[in-house]
Amino acid sequence: MIYLDNAATTKLKKKALDAMLPCFDLNFANPSAIYPAAGKARRVVEESREVFAEGLGCDRDEIFFTSGGTESDNWAIRGAAEALSRKGRHIVTQKTEHHAVLNTLESLKRLGFEVTFLDVGENGILDPAAVEMALRRDTVLVSVMAANNETGVLQKIGEIGKIAKKNGTVFHTDAVQAFGHMKLDVKALNIDLLSASSHKIGGPKGVGLLYKSIDTDILPMIFGGGQERGMRSGTENVPGIAGFAAAFKDIDDADKVRELRDYFTGRILSEIPKVSLNGDRELRLPGIVNVSIEGVKGESVLMRLSSLGICASTGSACTSGTGEPSHVLKAMGFDDERCNSSLRFSLCGENTKEEIDSVTEALKDIVGDFRKILS
Ligand code: PLP
Repeated sequence: MIYLDNAATTKLKKKALDAMLPCFDLNFANPSAIYPAAGKARRVVEESREVFAEGLGCDRDEIFFTSGGTESDNWAIRGAAEALSRKGRHIVTQKTEHHAVLNTLESLKRLGFEVTFLDVGENGILDPAAVEMALRRDTVLVSVMAANNETGVLQKIGEIGKIAKKNGTVFHTDAVQAFGHMKLDVKALNIDLLSASSHKIGGPKGVGLLYKSIDTDILPMIFGGGQERGMRSGTENVPGIAGFAAAFKDIDDADKVRELRDYFTGRILSEIPKVSLNGDRELRLPGIVNVSIEGVKGESVLMRLSSLGICASTGSACTSGTGEPSHVLKAMGFDDERCNSSLRFSLCGENTKEEIDSVTEALKDIVGDFRKILS
């Protein structure tokens, strides 16, 4: 199998597995208990928190563990909106967000919030000036992702953070795809809330985090025994948290991934006629290549690739299979034909040049076959 779908999920890293295993037997205690074994479990959680605090440049009291990116997005947005609703009920976001953000905002609209969904350019980038223009006196939250899951396009979150701060508006970023793949210094970037997920960086599924700056008030969304300093109840997923931190410490070499991606992109664009790269060529994650291949259906190409043991995707894991054109490519102004002929390949540090060569050759054959049938 050649796996080029790392934006959907990643293989668990060996170091993450090694960190997790003792938490299932030797170190299985509930971190909230008072005996020494519980202290050991608690230490695992707190040492992991320290790893993320250091990585994000924040205090460890600003890190809260969750069940993943979706929960972190829901919590950040609903928690901030509810906490600030007396100040205002307007939220600014953009159209290419993940559905964990878009659908949470839709749910807030039903509760009387007003949401501005900003357009992006053809390169997938949101102009920070558009955010500035959209801000109002009653705007309480700006939510703009760090990197897009379909195209890998990076948003100018530093500039957007500055604008939000100047306006006294809370700034949330969904960094699920960017986290670990680029430096994210939350203080320098003026980020108040940041969502991240473990299974996109070689950690286990079902665990993530929310960074919440000490100055940002949000309401808890999950009530119970008062874990995570009363902000997110539920017995901690100790093995998951340990695996997440171990994966973060063993992050892939971004330069190596970028080099492979550029080699792949170069080969596809030069050797297959009528292929367009979707998303900005420079401002994007090291691992994602999204292309549209004129005249062929992305789904059909994927099925042929899949029969050869090659795993890729047409867009986000959540929307692929629905037959709906990607909302991300649509927002970039592309017609249905370009959206439906798109393919996403997402690489990781384990991929090799040989794999990329095999996939390129397979792709050339498949596209050639389809075009012959259609001509
Ligand atoms: N946000 C983005 C940008 C994502 O790519 C994903 C997952 O695909 C999520 C949120 C949801 O994360 P999780 O799968 O951890 O719930």
